[in-house]
Amino acid sequence: MAKLYFRYSAMNAGKSTALIQVAHNYEENDRQVVLFTAAIDDRFGSGLITSRIGPQREARTFDSVLDFYAEIAMMSAISCVLIDEAQFLTPDQVRQLHRAAHLLDIPVICYGIRSDFAGEPFPGSAYLLTLADSLEELKNICSCGRKATMNPRFDARGERIRSGAQVAIEGVVEYRPMCARCFYGGLSR
Ligand SMILES: [Zn+2]
Repeated sequence: MAKLYFRYSAMNAGKSTALIQVAHNYEENDRQVVLFTAAIDDRFGSGLITSRIGPQREARTFDSVLDFYAEIAMMSAISCVLIDEAQFLTPDQVRQLHRAAHLLDIPVICYGIRSDFAGEPFPGSAYLLTLADSLEELKNICSCGRKATMNPRFDARGERIRSGAQVAIEGVVEYRPMCARCFYGGLSR
């Protein structure tokens, strides 16, 4: 039976690259996939999943009202659903994807970060950590060399931003992968 997968990491660990590679692997075997990314993320133009090392793919976008179960149920000949920026899923949407994996027998692979700039959970990630049948961490390192698990926010001058809305898109602000020790150490760089 198909599963719901959550592959999580800190920022810049190559999630989009991994997603594009999985899509390629399916397609190389003549299997169709469908790609989604959050409508909220227009870093590289809406509806694109862009890897930092080059490759990019067009993707459908999801907002908070898309019914994933209904959407996937209408698709035919799909072998896998791949979702980037999965932290922006709503709890309901995570439930829809879990149901789709198990009732429609289509694997759903979600890529995202667990916590926001303040170390608080994204609701979508909290539900993915609860419901996903398979959890896998994509590892990345802090500038100090330890494993990065946190995603602090910085302004254009490199100053740490410690308050604000949960969602602020890269470009306006910058996120850096950071270990918990540096995150709590108050380091600004
Ligand atoms: Zn560190």
